[in-house]
Amino acid sequence: MSQFGAPSESHTMELADGSTIPLLGFGVWQIPNGPECVQAVQAALDVGYRHIDTAQAYGNEESVGEALRRSGVPREEVFITTKFLPSQEDAAREAAHSLGRLGLDYVDLYLVHWPQGGATRAWPGMEEAHRLGYARSIGVSNFDVTELETLMGVAALRPSVDQVQLSPFHYRRTLVNAAREQDLVVEAYSPLGTGRHLSDETVRRIASQIGRTPAQVLLRWCIQHGFVVLPKSTHQDRIQENARIFDFNLSPADMSELDALDQTGGTHRAQERKWW
Ligand code: NDP
Repeated sequence: MSQFGAPSESHTMELADGSTIPLLGFGVWQIPNGPECVQAVQAALDVGYRHIDTAQAYGNEESVGEALRRSGVPREEVFITTKFLPSQEDAAREAAHSLGRLGLDYVDLYLVHWPQGGATRAWPGMEEAHRLGYARSIGVSNFDVTELETLMGVAALRPSVDQVQLSPFHYRRTLVNAAREQDLVVEAYSPLGTGRHLSDETVRRIASQIGRTPAQVLLRWCIQHGFVVLPKSTHQDRIQENARIFDFNLSPADMSELDALDQTGGTHRAQERKWW
């Protein structure tokens, strides 16, 4: 039994393709491949995370696979996401390479990491990765409203997920609403602002009023908005802390106050400054 209970109905969500995704995922961006990553992912699995978010670009798929094997948690109990590095040519071929590095015969979710070369460029390879059984579900990341619409216009197999930067400070309401109209599950990446939002005064005040930590407040805000949330940490105590987000509620007043921290004007964009 985990610190926050075994995965239950309320800790998961259904994707449009019928798969089930745990609401809490462990992010591994910027954790170097090797012992640090293996230990972090093992710590997450030990306290009950059942969803790991990696990417070809992170260079640490080997460690994710190694941690999963060492943990003893059965493969089918863990939801593994990786992402296609879109500077590469062929998403299906790269998925096969990811599986080799992970030591797995499928991933649960395979995302186009960002829409390099246009919204539809990588999609035929993504559909092929699904057809070949490399990925149970496929989706996108960093796609804005227009890019989602463009992709939906041509996709034979529709994406199930858009993973975007979301937090009270980046509350991209127009994008979230558009994604939901297309039956996409929205995943929140950098929910702590890569650490930056933890020192915000409003977040700290709400946390202290309800006897929780700033990280838990930021993560709970995502859960109450219905986002899958993907915190990262390399510290065991924080990994545990970040998982304790299913045993309290933020009040409507707290939610409104956090919503008002948005600096994007409720944008339709996925990124203010694109890196591709
Ligand atoms: P987060 O927003 O999760 O913040 C992580 C930072 O906060 C680290 O510096 C961590 O430090 C610190 N931290 C974590 N928990 C606590 C805590 N309880 N108390 C104090 N400090 C804490 O970071 P990321 O930007 O990495 O986003 C999370 C995940 O989202 C990524 O790992 C990745 O999986 C995904 N992502 C996807 C992107 C995409 O393009 N699709 C882009 C960016 C992220 P420490 O590790 O030292 O504990």
